Amino acid sequence: MPELPEVETVRRGLEQLVVGRRIVGVDVLNPGSLDAPLPLDGLQVTTARRRAKMLMLDLDDGRCLAIHLKMTGQLVVRNRTCVDESDCVQVGSGADRQMEGVSVAGGGMGCGLQPAQGAQTPYSTRNQVSGYAGQASAPSPAQTGVPPTAVTFVENLPADASLVGYHWGGGHPSDSLIDELPDRSTRVIFDLDDGARLFFNDQRKFGWIRAVPRDVADGWASAYGPEPMDDDAWPRFRALVRRHAKATIKAALLDQHVVAGIGNIYADEALWGAGVHPASRVGALSDRALHRVLDEAAAVMEMSIDLGGSTARNYVDAEGRRGAYLDFARVFRREGKPCLRCGTTIVKTRVAGRGTHLCPKCQRVRNVQQAHQVH
Ligand SMILES: [Zn+2]
Repeated sequence: MPELPEVETVRRGLEQLVVGRRIVGVDVLNPGSLDAPLPLDGLQVTTARRRAKMLMLDLDDGRCLAIHLKMTGQLVVRNRTCVDESDCVQVGSGADRQMEGVSVAGGGMGCGLQPAQGAQTPYSTRNQVSGYAGQASAPSPAQTGVPPTAVTFVENLPADASLVGYHWGGGHPSDSLIDELPDRSTRVIFDLDDGARLFFNDQRKFGWIRAVPRDVADGWASAYGPEPMDDDAWPRFRALVRRHAKATIKAALLDQHVVAGIGNIYADEALWGAGVHPASRVGALSDRALHRVLDEAAAVMEMSIDLGGSTARNYVDAEGRRGAYLDFARVFRREGKPCLRCGTTIVKTRVAGRGTHLCPKCQRVRNVQQAHQVH
């Protein structure tokens, strides 16, 4: 399951590559993946929003494409160069480099065609990329005779990226991010007016795209608890979490109606950071402790977004690729290793039905006898 930072990373990619574009065709390969009673052709994408882990692409007819990636969803944008020409291949330095590209990016990765050394690329700014959309101001590499010499993997889509020649994808880090598309996991393809294609890939088909009136999507969005990183998150979080006095703090954090977008990794990291035992009952925690937990959740999410999102167990693909986030996780999956704060051995237990990592010294549970018996 992608966590909030990954979905935010996907949103940022969509903002750069899809907002402002018009949908000129929709190919539905799996009817269950797209619910759009009315046609989408001709509609312009006006904004790319996110609420919790739901993405919302607003359309200029008042509707919204609400998207949930669920377990294995991913969104990939290939521009015309990548779609139409076989030269958009992974050159780089082989599988290891690809692996790094996927794992470092986590929520978002891309590859870019690099112009020959010394050749002036005509695609150096966003405006020029827009020019590619039928204005003939930015010819393709084939037209200019500038051959794409290599594909390099970038950690994040750069703000001023040369987007022609890039393909970009985010979400579940499988090879579909970098392989030729459509592939077996492709469920929906959107053709965009600049010649690019937006692929919705979803191996396990739990993800969905729903075209609904904007107020319907906003209604779904309002059911989520506050975003941890929002300035006004604390009073809302406090009011909502206090309704769950008997729940463990970990279960409360995982409840999307209490606070949005916290999954297993961020719950463990936030609780370790705040020095709060995951099995503590909410009712036994002071406001100060709860505030600390929320602050830690926000801080760890911001850090992860900066790194392009996290990659959790469900994101480990067949080759064992994993997210960069875990390289600096302070407690998650560090069982058996010393606590970075006090040196005590980190243990893994089970709280709220989930594998839970904690430092038994820094995170003392005071209101229950046996942490591992709490569910
Ligand atoms: Zn410790």
